[in-house]
Amino acid sequence: MSAASILHADLDAFYASVEQRDDPALRGRPVIVGTGVVLAASYEAKALGIYTTMNGRDALRICPEAAVVAPRMEAYSKASKAVYEIFHDTAPVVEGISIDEAFLEVGGMEHISGTPPQIAATLRERVLAEAGLPISVGVARTKFLAKVASGASKPDGLLVVEPGRESEFLHPLPIQALWGVGKVTTGKLNDMGIRTVGDVARSSRVRLAAAIGESSADHLLDLASGRDPRPVSPRERRKSIGAQSAFPRGSRSESEVDSLAAALVDRTARRLREAGRACRTVSISLRFGDFSRASRAHTLPFPTDQTETILAAVRELFDASREEIEEKDLSLIGVSLGNLEQADTVQMELPLAGKPDGSGRESAALDQAVDDVRSRFGEGVIKRASMIDADQGVPVPTLED
Ligand SMILES: [Mg+2]
Repeated sequence: MSAASILHADLDAFYASVEQRDDPALRGRPVIVGTGVVLAASYEAKALGIYTTMNGRDALRICPEAAVVAPRMEAYSKASKAVYEIFHDTAPVVEGISIDEAFLEVGGMEHISGTPPQIAATLRERVLAEAGLPISVGVARTKFLAKVASGASKPDGLLVVEPGRESEFLHPLPIQALWGVGKVTTGKLNDMGIRTVGDVARSSRVRLAAAIGESSADHLLDLASGRDPRPVSPRERRKSIGAQSAFPRGSRSESEVDSLAAALVDRTARRLREAGRACRTVSISLRFGDFSRASRAHTLPFPTDQTETILAAVRELFDASREEIEEKDLSLIGVSLGNLEQADTVQMELPLAGKPDGSGRESAALDQAVDDVRSRFGEGVIKRASMIDADQGVPVPTLED
């Protein structure tokens, strides 16, 4: 059996942590980033039931004393760059997933930088010391297990799933922990009496396949049994996917502009899905007959590869540009999708990170189950950062000092 050498590193409440880092008055307080929809919530806010994608008004009803701050995307992207520099300094192979998380392969580095748990502890220390941000790290033999482990260790945690004890960690978790299990599959499996990952692992393939299809059955059985052959691979990462189209001269009716925009969205969204990516930022660019230009961008609270969602964002951006379009002679429009993430990892994250549809229930159920595992198997299966640090004499960094 191979060693547990894959790290999944994920910054905690990233946007909110940057805000707390940069403004001492926000530390230790519930902080909400985003004035409409909640884009990020500090752990103090999460503890009160506030979650990402929640409506801001509902959030303030729950927690009127929360500090609401407007997002500062430039600060977040700068912080992300600093953290990625530490990632690349830590491991020869880094697979970036999004602005705030990545997989790192650290096998075979014992003589240079220590064992994977030691490397993970050092990584956490460095990110806190050099970027001023808390980061959670999961260490395991597969990407899937590492990802679940980092989620279970949050906030500000380190969790090592030892090879050979993986089932003890994974099997008590609810089936939503398996990447690809959404509401529909959950319902079907629950109907069969299957509630935990262990129930899946013990199911017959034939019975599972009859309920959810052959390929889903194989996929879930693999994950539930700890089989995930995907290596950590640094992909050539495209920064954006875009398309543009020129108008022949003459003024444009609202419906002409809209149908051209819809065609561009259709084309870019299809290319996004073909590339297996999801986007967070949707932008439009406009060029006018007098050669002036304008552009507008909107960052979604969650990544998407859905045409409808992207189109809705593009329409809002065109609405906001209505005056300019009416006053000037529009000659070209463009649509661009940025802040790209891998769609498979995005899906995998949903049960752990709250749903775009606003339901945080599954995530709460998972957190509870993880806590149960921890209290039942705690020290044997799941090593907390403090234990590893005690083993190796590495000082434990504190969150905010
Ligand atoms: Mg994160």
